[in-house]
Amino acid sequence: MPSPAPPHKDAHILVVDDTQVNVKLLLALLQHYGYHNSRGINDPRWIEPMLEEKLPDLILLDINMPHLSGHDVLGWLKTRWAEQAPPVIVLTAQTDRDTRMQALDLGARDFLTKPFDQQEVMQRIRNALEVHFLLKERNDRAILLQNLVEERTAAIQRLSREDPVTQLPNRRALLAQLDGLLQEGQPALLYFLALEGMDEIARLHGYAISEALSLHLRDRLHGHFGEQATVGVWNSSKWLLITRQPLAKGAVSEQAQAILRCIAQPFAIDQIKVHLGARIGISHTGMPHQSAEQLLRLAALALPDSSSGWRLYQPSIEDALQKRIRLHEALRSALDQQEFFLVYQPKIELHSGRVIGAEALLRWVHPQLGFVSPIDFIPLAETSGDILSIGDWVIDRAISQLEEWLATGQVASDFRLAVNVSVQQLTRPDFARNLLNRLLRSRLPVGALEIEITESGLMQNVDLARAQLKLLARHRVSVAIDDFGTGHSSLAYLKTLPVSVLKIDRAFVSNMDTNPQDCRLAETVIDMARNFSCITVAEGVEKPEQAEMLQAMGCELAQGYWYSPPLKVEQFVEFCAGRQRERAAS
Ligand code: C2E
Ligand code: CA
Ligand code: CA
Repeated sequence: MPSPAPPHKDAHILVVDDTQVNVKLLLALLQHYGYHNSRGINDPRWIEPMLEEKLPDLILLDINMPHLSGHDVLGWLKTRWAEQAPPVIVLTAQTDRDTRMQALDLGARDFLTKPFDQQEVMQRIRNALEVHFLLKERNDRAILLQNLVEERTAAIQRLSREDPVTQLPNRRALLAQLDGLLQEGQPALLYFLALEGMDEIARLHGYAISEALSLHLRDRLHGHFGEQATVGVWNSSKWLLITRQPLAKGAVSEQAQAILRCIAQPFAIDQIKVHLGARIGISHTGMPHQSAEQLLRLAALALPDSSSGWRLYQPSIEDALQKRIRLHEALRSALDQQEFFLVYQPKIELHSGRVIGAEALLRWVHPQLGFVSPIDFIPLAETSGDILSIGDWVIDRAISQLEEWLATGQVASDFRLAVNVSVQQLTRPDFARNLLNRLLRSRLPVGALEIEITESGLMQNVDLARAQLKLLARHRVSVAIDDFGTGHSSLAYLKTLPVSVLKIDRAFVSNMDTNPQDCRLAETVIDMARNFSCITVAEGVEKPEQAEMLQAMGCELAQGYWYSPPLKVEQFVEFCAGRQRERAAS
């Protein structure tokens, strides 16, 4: 009767003994005790090919055999299979100590002494298998764990070098690649792409659309450049394209144009058509003293300011930027340091010669940089946002100055002071409210303050501008369109805006006595203004002939060096008093 199945009945057991009877006996015994996966061989030389095919779970190994002794087999197992070697129980007739010691030394797990005692044989086999499977399980678990850890590590590494949306190389991977190229001395061109509209699209249509857009763009760039270029993502709206080429102007221009074309074609996503723009800054590995980071910085620096196009890095770009940064830093503290002041340029009524108002113009004198022209710092303040606090200061200053002049009678009671307002100020939703509140708190008569806004500024957000201007107009704050004739001169829009003054740009005024075309333009503007019931102010009047022509054309007011440059407070008061005396005398 067979015994109940042992715990490891499926174990592969290999019996190796040159004595046929022993093999048969052991196999029969194993079979009887439920081990049905046992095999036996008489020639120890077969053991090698057999094990190469499949490792048994246990070897019962004779010591004294022809061709190969049990010790030889143990030695081979140790060198060939090391840790993985299956456990070996040595079958031996001798009990001499040396043989046993040698076998133990070579890794034998246990001994069975011939002739076999059945009980003992089975117990020792069970024990050996028990230990073997325990170790095996532990080992398997360790291997599994190791594999899991390796897989996870690889995934983390991949993720850490990959943009999660596009699977394109991310910053780290890009920098590493650039580093590699630099170290190998490989030529490469670096295109830093600033994608215009990406953030707006995400805000307007949601992130699903902007992510789909990124994938489309990736495919387009891959489609065009293929293996020639690495496309990577610096952040959602800044991408990078690296081509392994030395600097050659023709190739750079061609590639930059190709990138711009890829980006400029509209993208169709879920029945939505979206448009992207791009600016490209370019650097290359041929530049001196560079690291990957440095190359990237230079490419980013080379980004052109205009809304589209490309530019190759040149040292002059950095100089200009340094200057801008210094200027910007200085500008930041200019308000606190009280470095600003206003000057006032009189506005003259052409037919009477009376000073009927002035334009307040901002001045900045920095302790180190000296006088900085508003032409340089106003645009800077506009891009940085500083114009908001600066603009507030200008309005406050202008209001208190005018209060003082009126209170002391230094200007006529209908005198009107104009301040320049940037589009950033105007498009703040609370601009008109705040201005009106401030005027209410002041002692100024209604209509004493005027604001000048450039036409291009107005056109940037006509709807918001219109709402603000309407509110101001209702409270009789007059609005002048500055630099008229240089921007869009979009009459259709102007008709819809509550504007009361048009300022003819000085570009036309300064040439009107010599250039008939400018002269006609000035005349047209004046005519048109009359049709809209606006008054006209001519800027930059430098010669008496110009003033005469303008007056003949019906222009009401003039401003310019011919009358006076912008003046500091005391000089301005002096100027007004002088004009007053002259008029009284004549
Ligand atoms: P704008 O509003 O067109 O100001 C007129 C500019 O022409 C002033 O230059 C003035 O000094 C100059 N000007 C006056 N008469 C003549 C003349 O007969 N010939 C010539 N060639 N120029 C004349 P400025 O003061 O350098 O201001 C430049 C621009 O800076 C201004 O142009 C205005 O757009 C801006 N700006 C000045 N102050 C402020 C301000 O407080 N806020 C804002 N947002 N912008 C300001
Ligand atoms: Ca033998
Ligand atoms: Ca102005």
